Amino acid sequence: MPGFELFGDLERKEVNDVLENGVLMRYGFDGMRNGHWKAKQLEQSLCQTFSTNHVQLVSSGTAAVTVALASAGVGAGDEVIMPTFTFVASFEAIMILGAIPVLVDIDDTLTLDPKAVEAAITPKTKAVMVVQMCGSMGDMDALKSVCDKHKLIFVEDACQAIGGSYKGKPLGSLADVGCFSFDFVKTITCGEGGAVVTNNKEYYINADHYSDHGHDHVGSDRGAETHPFLGYNFRISELNAAVGLAQVKRLPEFLRIQRKHYTIIREVLESIPEITFRTVPEGGIESCAFLNFFLPDKERALLVSQSFKENGVDVCWNYFENNWHYIRKWNHLKEAKSLYPLTDAVKSQLDALSKKDFAQSDYWIGRNISCLIKMSWTEEEVRDRAKKMKEIIIDCLTKDS
Ligand SMILES: *Cc1c(COP(=O)(O)O)cnc(C)c1O
Repeated sequence: MPGFELFGDLERKEVNDVLENGVLMRYGFDGMRNGHWKAKQLEQSLCQTFSTNHVQLVSSGTAAVTVALASAGVGAGDEVIMPTFTFVASFEAIMILGAIPVLVDIDDTLTLDPKAVEAAITPKTKAVMVVQMCGSMGDMDALKSVCDKHKLIFVEDACQAIGGSYKGKPLGSLADVGCFSFDFVKTITCGEGGAVVTNNKEYYINADHYSDHGHDHVGSDRGAETHPFLGYNFRISELNAAVGLAQVKRLPEFLRIQRKHYTIIREVLESIPEITFRTVPEGGIESCAFLNFFLPDKERALLVSQSFKENGVDVCWNYFENNWHYIRKWNHLKEAKSLYPLTDAVKSQLDALSKKDFAQSDYWIGRNISCLIKMSWTEEEVRDRAKKMKEIIIDCLTKDS
């Protein structure tokens, strides 16, 4: 997945353009820029990549989720439904706005279970956030119809699924508002950066102003701008945008390599009858940033994960014991360990969360192995890796049964 694996001359050239005129900021300084507007150019380019009307670049993926929610009017007291399997950024973004994270089970897609979403809806529910984990997606039609039925805002975090699609549309562009991260380990990187993607003009204008202190961006004198509403600073810098501009040009090449490596490994593992692969909803095409499969039970998945580590098969994880991506180890969240006071509504939700049983999520995450697909591997390395993985899995399966 990580775009940094293939840094080259194009990234250097784009960054040098910025350094040569010295305007590191994305707004203003028109006279000094020599025509270089890297953030603006990257936004235009991403509109095409994600087949969407509007893109607002921001400083990170976490900022993108925050700005997306704020732009759609999500705030204090609003409940936002999100999955148990995601990155900590999901609840961070919800909580920084004073909104309440409501965590629900995932299914065999490794993303939101539409039935669990519907069961969690209350009169306070304002939005549903699907997180397209590990290169694939939730059942977007089913989730959208739940949102439509209950008049909820549908938010799509596609940070880990750049280049995947559903029924011909790019992931990230399917919901009311979508989010991307271009942090250092994502498929295209800016070093740090993110994007809010939407076809809703009002949300876009909100995102544009909100991510830059509420400035209205009218005219060319920043000091004269007015503030239709309160904002914050979630701006990206020109240096970061320049790296992204080089990377987005190379995205088709990146995706081709990912798919090739994914397919080689998958075809080898498919010959093991005890293994099943993550369900991809009908009409969905994975980005191939990861390959996800299930062992018959948690014990064997942990055994395989351990044996992969001991035998040099890196970048594969079982998320059951993971501190970053799964609810089991988010003690700081469940214990509401905040530096500053939280509202009673948030505290009582987190208290309920600490007592809740997520047996369905445990079932899928416990049995899952998630393997990152690197682009810098040679074809020979990929074939060797696939062979080794198969041997280890078969060994674990026979040892244990
Ligand atoms: C990486 C990531 C984020 C946050 O992105 P940053 O740019 O690191 O802040 C949010 N959600 C998911 C699913 C991610 O993988």
